[in-house]
Amino acid sequence: MEFRYCPKCGNEIREDKDRCDKCGFDFSQLKEKKAEELPMRYLLKRKDPILAGILSFLLPGLGQIYVGDIGRGILITIIAFIIALLALLSNLLIYLAFHFIQIYDAYKEASEYNNLLFEGIEPW
Ligand SMILES: [Zn+2]
Repeated sequence: MEFRYCPKCGNEIREDKDRCDKCGFDFSQLKEKKAEELPMRYLLKRKDPILAGILSFLLPGLGQIYVGDIGRGILITIIAFIIALLALLSNLLIYLAFHFIQIYDAYKEASEYNNLLFEGIEPW
């Protein structure tokens, strides 16, 4: 049994079928315009959508670079780095603010403790 590939969705279809089971692509259209060449070119140049997704999981923009959209891929990578950096910096600033408030609080509490002790009151 011979197989061929759907040029629209990449599905593998038996040679004797006229339509793609997956997307309904009509192969009779191809017979007029070089039925042999088009699927071959498609096969050589097609990109794996799952691999593109995995690459973008590893590094945002890498999947786009793999597909050949290099400019957009690099832009996405840069934007991802900026967002990550801003997220880290803003969280760091929130933490540092809390940390320094606690330093001041401990300092103030020790001073109040000493004042009460000086007046002859047991603070706690
Ligand atoms: Zn198809």
